[in-house]
Amino acid sequence: MMPKRVSVMEPSSHPKRSAPARVKVGVRLRPYMNLEESKQQRPCVRGLNDQSLEIVNWRNQLETMQYQFDAFYGEDSTQQEVYSRSVEPILSHLLDGQNASVFAYGPTGAGKTHTMLGSPEQPGIIPRAVKDLFQMTRSENSSFGAHWNFKVTMSYLEIYQEKVLDLLEPKHQELPIREDKDKNIFIPNLTQKVITSFSDFESFFIPASQNRTVACTKLNNRSSRSHAVLLIKVQKSECFSPFRQLTGKLYMIDLAGSEDNRRTGNQGIRLKESGAINSSLFVLSKVVDALNQGLPRIPYRDSKLTRLLQDSLGGSAHSVMITNIAPGQKYYFDTLTALNFAAKSKQIINKPFTQETTQSSALAPMKRHRDEQEAGSAGM
Ligand code: ADP
Ligand code: MG
Repeated sequence: MMPKRVSVMEPSSHPKRSAPARVKVGVRLRPYMNLEESKQQRPCVRGLNDQSLEIVNWRNQLETMQYQFDAFYGEDSTQQEVYSRSVEPILSHLLDGQNASVFAYGPTGAGKTHTMLGSPEQPGIIPRAVKDLFQMTRSENSSFGAHWNFKVTMSYLEIYQEKVLDLLEPKHQELPIREDKDKNIFIPNLTQKVITSFSDFESFFIPASQNRTVACTKLNNRSSRSHAVLLIKVQKSECFSPFRQLTGKLYMIDLAGSEDNRRTGNQGIRLKESGAINSSLFVLSKVVDALNQGLPRIPYRDSKLTRLLQDSLGGSAHSVMITNIAPGQKYYFDTLTALNFAAKSKQIINKPFTQETTQSSALAPMKRHRDEQEAGSAGM
């Protein structure tokens, strides 16, 4: 006889009266990558403590700007620190059927992929979270005596020029995003692989990531201009009456580079493409701002990325954004844009950053660009 399944409503179908959850923001400053970089580009930003940093004020050489975040990770921070402070605390909610999202934001070269993926020697957030999730399902089973049946699945997709593409089945056409009657967001026909161990995960993830890298060299560094979205779903079914079912979704996203392509003048970037990136990151910044200010209307529908994240960003979901920044002057204005998006608060301090980094000659060429940029993107 088939057990009668009582479906527990997903959290998003409970109209919550409390304000939607804030998006927690961490900023990570990467170290100089080599002697050359440190010689050529003086630092224009430095950490103050584990929640704040300061940066040169290009408008006034006698001032420094200080920014505050939920977490600040300096150039000596380890992958373990970033993971255990910003990501690990949200994972347990997945086993309660709640959703979560973690995304890395920042200009190309500032450390997004290092933070999300890392390397075999220094694994990032993705491998750590997947390992821990399996560990959590196993330990929940051992403490509750196999009360629950767990099913973990993964999907991996890319949003490129406002198109959703399946990275596990690259031959698939562009996919639509839908919403069910309980307001859960889903993508019909998106490949979903059942995984039962970390090596299972790797067996799907590594070739798909390589596909993406190959495609990106052919297509002119596409990877820095698309959002790579990994979805891990944890489905939990009770083995006994009342046979409850809970599903928690975790999105881990390596966002497109936030640099202003108009300003950096990257050759070969078609206007349409850079427009699509800038506008979807712009919508994301509006969504995060609206959530963090408790505004009544959240503009999820204004981009594919935010539409996809609608049930996993804000509401009852747990969200973390890691903003990656680089120390050198080359990145100065991209760093400022990223910090202004990320900051909880900002104040201007009446003291120069340091003598050597406030030389007008060093910042003069950038000032011109900044004026152009501001003229073109008022309100950002
Ligand atoms: P992005 O994905 O934002 O374009 P990457 O993650 O590829 O940037 O980082 C650029 C380079 O800097 C890579 O070689 C990466 O390994 C290195 N890197 C980034 N962040 C760190 C860090 N915190 N510690 C050491 N190396 C880093
Ligand atoms: Mg990258």
